Amino acid sequence: MNSYSHHWALTPYNLGMCAEWTPENRRTHYMTLCKPDDRIYFAGEHMSYIGCWMAGAFEASRAAVQALHTRALSNVAYGERSLPRRNPAFSGMKTGAS
Ligand SMILES: Cc1cc2nc3c(=O)[nH]c(=O)nc-3n(C[C@H](O)[C@H](O)[C@H](O)COP(=O)(O)OP(=O)(O)OC[C@H]3O[C@@H](n4cnc5c(N)ncnc54)[C@H](O)[C@@H]3O)c2cc1C
Repeated sequence: MNSYSHHWALTPYNLGMCAEWTPENRRTHYMTLCKPDDRIYFAGEHMSYIGCWMAGAFEASRAAVQALHTRALSNVAYGERSLPRRNPAFSGMKTGAS
């Protein structure tokens, strides 16, 4: 059996292992980071309270997917005619509406 060992801190351009939040930054910037920027949703351990762990990455990813899902459902509920206005990605797409 072969094995491989690597000191990750010696990897070029690696600036650290994970995000470090100060209590002040949590108060002032955390909620802003958690909000999507229009159609761009962020996820990662840095967006959780379980920083530096895979569990934090899972939790933040789940929250982002859940928010996307809720948004997609609200677009459907709004009706097909509103799709191009609410989401430019749908403009020009045939919706099947008569
Ligand atoms: C040495 C080490 C040991 C660890 N051990 C553990 C452990 O035992 N248990 C544990 O729970 N956690 C551990 N962690 C932490 C865990 O690995 C991270 O918390 C987790 O991987 C973070 O997931 P993430 O999705 O937020 O980010 P990442 O896993 O870093 O994923 C980000 C991805 O984005 C990609 N990317 C970056 N820039 C771009 C770009 N411009 N375009 C496209 N893709 C891009 C990267 O290549 C990467 O694949 C360890 C971390 C390190 C460094």
